[in-house]
Amino acid sequence: MCRRIVINGRLWEGDGSGRWIDEVLLLPLEAVVERLGASRHWIAYPRELEMEKDGKTLNIKIGASAAQLQGEKIPLDYPAFVEKGVVMVPVSLLCRFFELAWTYAEDVDAIVLSRAEPALLGKRIVLDPGHGGDDPGIISDDLVEAEFTWDVARRLCGLLTLSGAAVTFTRQWDETVSLAQRVMVVEEVKPDILVSIHFNSFLCSAHNGLETYWYSNWLARQLAEHVHNGILEELEIPNRGVRESAFHILRQAPTVSILIKLGFATGDGDQHILRDRWLRERAALGIFRGIREYIEACLSQM
Ligand SMILES: [Zn+2]
Repeated sequence: MCRRIVINGRLWEGDGSGRWIDEVLLLPLEAVVERLGASRHWIAYPRELEMEKDGKTLNIKIGASAAQLQGEKIPLDYPAFVEKGVVMVPVSLLCRFFELAWTYAEDVDAIVLSRAEPALLGKRIVLDPGHGGDDPGIISDDLVEAEFTWDVARRLCGLLTLSGAAVTFTRQWDETVSLAQRVMVVEEVKPDILVSIHFNSFLCSAHNGLETYWYSNWLARQLAEHVHNGILEELEIPNRGVRESAFHILRQAPTVSILIKLGFATGDGDQHILRDRWLRERAALGIFRGIREYIEACLSQM
C-alpha cells in the first residue's frame, strides 16, 4: 500500500491508494485523471480503455504486458488491473502519458507526482533553514528548532526540484552558518527568491499560530501572502498574519525574501506540527504552492 497520493502540490482526497507489487508502484488511474484531466472511454469494458489528452492517445489493455501510446508499444513493468472497480496503472506509464516526474517519500508513505512547471523551470530559489550546527535555535521540551527547519526545507526542496526549480540551501544538515554567511550565499546564487524557515517561541504555551514576514519590498509582500495562505490551506493553525519586520536576512539579502515562523515550538496547539512528519510535509506542500502561485502571478509576466 501507498497511502497518500500528492499531485502537483496537493493531496488527492479521493478513495483509493497506491499499491506496490513486485517493487512496481501502481496508482488508481482516477486520481491522476481527476487532477490533470483527460478524456477516457472503454473500448471493450472492462478489458480495454482509451484515454486522450492534448491530442495524445493512450490505450491500456487490462492484464496486457504492454500499452499503446500514439500507436507505439510501451512495455509495462506490471500489467494494469481492475480491483473493486478501480483501474490500477503502473506509475511509469502515467508519468509518460501525463509528462510527470515522481518520487516516493517513504517516511510519510506518500507518492509525489509533479509536472515540470513552466513557471518554475530554471527558477533559482534559496532555502534558508534557520539555525543549525552550534546554534540549535529554540529548544522546547525535546524539540530543537534547527532540526525542524531543516526537515521542512528538505521536503520543500524535493517538491521544488521535482517541478524544475534549482534549489540552493544556506546551510547543510549540521552546519553552523552565521547570518552574514547566509546573506553571502544569496549574493553568490542571485536567486529569484529566498525563503527562510523558523519556528516561534513564547513564555506562555497558549501562544500559537503562523506568522510570515516580509520587509520593505512589494514583491516580498506578495510572496509572503501567497505562501502564508498556502500553509493555512494545509495546516490547522491560528492565523497571526503576514507582517513586516526588519529581520537581518530580510534586510540584507539582495532578493525577494520572506521569513516564515511555522508555529510556536512552545505552543500547546502548534507542537504537533513539529512532532508529526506528515504535517511537516503538508507545510512544505503549502509553501510550495505559495511559491508557485507567486511566480506565476508576479514573475512570469516580468
Ligand atoms: Zn529561529
